Amino acid sequence: MKKRTKIIASLGPASSNAMKLEKMMLEGADVFRINLSHTKIGDVDHIIKLVRKVEKKLGRPVAVMLDLQGQKVRIKGFAKKPHITLKSGDKFTIDSSLKDNGNQKQVGVTFKDLYKNVKQGDELLLSDALIKLKVEKVVSKKIYTIVDRGGKLKPYQGLNKKGGGLSLSGITAKDKSDLKKSLSFEYDYLAVSFVKNEKDIQEIKKIIRNKDIRIISKIERNEALKNIDKITKESDGLLVARGDLGVEIGIEQLPAAQKFLIRKAISSDKLVIVATQMMESMITNRVPTRAEVFDVANAVSSGVDAIMFSAETAIGKYPSDVIGEASRICIESEGAYIRPLSVDRVVPKTLPVDQVIALSAVYSAKLTKAVAIAALTETGSTALWMSRVQSNIPIYAMTQNIKTSRRICLYKGVQSIKLDKLEENHAQANMQVIDLMKEIGTVRKGDYVIITKGDLLGTSGGTNAMKVVEVGNMLEINE
Ligand code: PEP
Repeated sequence: MKKRTKIIASLGPASSNAMKLEKMMLEGADVFRINLSHTKIGDVDHIIKLVRKVEKKLGRPVAVMLDLQGQKVRIKGFAKKPHITLKSGDKFTIDSSLKDNGNQKQVGVTFKDLYKNVKQGDELLLSDALIKLKVEKVVSKKIYTIVDRGGKLKPYQGLNKKGGGLSLSGITAKDKSDLKKSLSFEYDYLAVSFVKNEKDIQEIKKIIRNKDIRIISKIERNEALKNIDKITKESDGLLVARGDLGVEIGIEQLPAAQKFLIRKAISSDKLVIVATQMMESMITNRVPTRAEVFDVANAVSSGVDAIMFSAETAIGKYPSDVIGEASRICIESEGAYIRPLSVDRVVPKTLPVDQVIALSAVYSAKLTKAVAIAALTETGSTALWMSRVQSNIPIYAMTQNIKTSRRICLYKGVQSIKLDKLEENHAQANMQVIDLMKEIGTVRKGDYVIITKGDLLGTSGGTNAMKVVEVGNMLEINE
């Protein structure tokens, strides 16, 4: 049985070779993420080409997501020391005039105006909140703190303020430069880190212009939660970046924030991904913890498009086992939760024809007990609309367009099929679809299948027809 929930695997030293990529795809990876926080832009094209090679070998589309580094505030270095250890009660100063010459008492920071954004009593969190500093005073650009919770501090680890408010404006020069350089690469999704408001996305869109790249806003700032309506509207999807978001809002707030963001995306007909520490223990272990199994199952039953792995597949010991375990949990959880149609979606009073056809197809499939829907699509929009409705009906999106076939890999419940050639005659196209589904093993004689398509096969935006077909009992006349 195919899983409906998609899996995003971040690439890194543990997984960026053809054999590992192939293994991960065979275990159920649908999208590969390249994180520009850890990968140089100069290495990206080579990695994407490797993915495309494996895609070709397996004859199955796969999407690539490029993840911009964003405005992460980081401390600087400690001369030649690999780390320092802070103890509770220690005094520690953050001084933006320092370079990489920090020591046990003080350290530099990448955000030179940090001192303007903090005041006495604020909590600064370092190293994914393992270390907590309390601000005692801010004097002549220096932030004097006392260590509230100590730990090992390594150069260039992240720094967050509890509650957010480290307001660096706009998109960084590095992000802009990386994005411009990336435009000639064959990727499908751009994840934008540390989005604050819709203007960040508009700035990105000005650089992308008419390139066919979809934008996923990573929600990891408190400010983003406040501006979520406009951010959602401007983006193609949201990514619940639980790592940094948990540091900013407090980990105890994450479950509510995750549910809120999933609902926001689904009700706005956008994509939604949940990320970070989903199977953290598998960085070193062969099996996930029970709590991790429940975390994945919870995301699945909340209706997410995808779950994402970071260190588990980028630097972990068992990248393909992670994907295998996650796939099995997805399949079992999807089978266990029968979700009602239309949960949380806001359906307006009128809709364009292609959306109406897409929604009707899902309802009709349920009412006719059709075993599958086949969407003949050029842009993938019909498949996207279908996948926004909660259902457990398998959707097969068939397209001649390679970019579309890749993009669809992120849509929950949709299997992407790249057609070499779609028959131009409608009756023959119907036969082609049914034959293909028989070949895959999805349908048998007597099953109902719903086919959606447009008058002009292979052209964009024209889906205007839905046909309920009984396998083995089709009228093969020219339409
Ligand atoms: C996160 O912070 O949860 C996240 C996914 O972002 P990154 O992996 O870029 O830190």
